[in-house]
Amino acid sequence: MNIADLQQQAEEMVEWLAAYGADPEGGVTRLLYTSSWIEAQQAMDRKMRAMGLDTYYDDAGNLFGRIASEDPEAGTILTGSHVDTVKCGGKYDGAFGIIAGLLALRYLKETYGPPKRNIEVVSLCEEEGSRFPLTFWGSTNITGTAPTDHIAQIRDSEGIPFVEAMNKAGFGLGHYRSPLRKDILSFIELHIEQGAILEREQTTIGIVEQIVGQKRLTIECSGEANHAGTTPMGWRKDALRGASQMIVAIMEAADRRGAPLVATVGKIEVEPNVSNVIPDKAAFTLDIRHPQGDVLDAFCEEAVAICFAAAQDRGLQVKVNQHLDVRPVGMDASLLRSIETICQAQGLPYRLMPSGAGHDAQIMAAHYPTSLIFVPSHRGISHNPAEYTSKEDLAAGVQVLIRLLYELGYEKETIS
Ligand SMILES: [Zn+2]
Repeated sequence: MNIADLQQQAEEMVEWLAAYGADPEGGVTRLLYTSSWIEAQQAMDRKMRAMGLDTYYDDAGNLFGRIASEDPEAGTILTGSHVDTVKCGGKYDGAFGIIAGLLALRYLKETYGPPKRNIEVVSLCEEEGSRFPLTFWGSTNITGTAPTDHIAQIRDSEGIPFVEAMNKAGFGLGHYRSPLRKDILSFIELHIEQGAILEREQTTIGIVEQIVGQKRLTIECSGEANHAGTTPMGWRKDALRGASQMIVAIMEAADRRGAPLVATVGKIEVEPNVSNVIPDKAAFTLDIRHPQGDVLDAFCEEAVAICFAAAQDRGLQVKVNQHLDVRPVGMDASLLRSIETICQAQGLPYRLMPSGAGHDAQIMAAHYPTSLIFVPSHRGISHNPAEYTSKEDLAAGVQVLIRLLYELGYEKETIS
């Protein structure tokens, strides 16, 4: 395999796919079941066929390209990622995992012919949750865990019902095969890191051990609104002052616990939000992530205790609502060891790491042995038109994928 060719092909294909849904500001917007999304899937279908793959859709809109085994009962090795983007997103998030799969499958078919097991690349229809209030629509349909009863009610920001959008794009009507899959032997997702660890450490490949668990809470403090000029400091029940005290104490506790724990207060709302009135209400969100469930639980309890102590100190009422509790998900240990061996053999610098962001791999991992592989993101920038990964790093990721798919699809007699 000529590395320079692979680098050029990876880079050209990223640019090619980014033309579907290209924003004037340089970003990419491909929201589920919109015209740019449909055009991208259709173009991908043509590209897959031109590269010698058999293609098909499922009824959710996931698109597959396949190299069939001579034994159709042999099971399937699946690779890929999501084709949808956030609004004005980058060219690499999701897209690179599909492109890498396409390049790997073409190479394998041309070099080795039919595999022992079917190998497929998937362009997953949706992961980001950017158009409708749901996420992982592509992978949850494949695993049979999609929230199908919930979709009848949901609409996008323009009021278009989910089901109407899906049907208009040609899906959900029974025209294609059922998305549910029982034949998948492993799932491999290649993705940009969306963080800066690999670049800072000058490491090319990140092998994900766990995808972090995540809790999201809203903390509401209630006090008493009063005149900013006539109420002495000691008499106040200032909800914002209490909330500030909580936030500082939670952040200090997060610092004490250290990496890989991260805690974020990203939103705060104050009432009446007027310059000369002491606030009677202050509500803030808290997002906590950690790859170990027990640490996540312990830190969450500590944060809640901090809030109650600060509320008591300031004479406030406090209400804590938890509205997200995603458990950490471990990636397959045997696949992880295979990828380590491949990186060593290819002389690629690598490290094991957690993923701080959610990925389709976390949905698949509950059902099939799954692996998530990262390549560096320049300056860690993602969900932004400035997202960038060098062609050298893209090609290194594809090389690892080719070797792994070869081992899984052509070599091993049995897969544990
Ligand atoms: Zn992504």
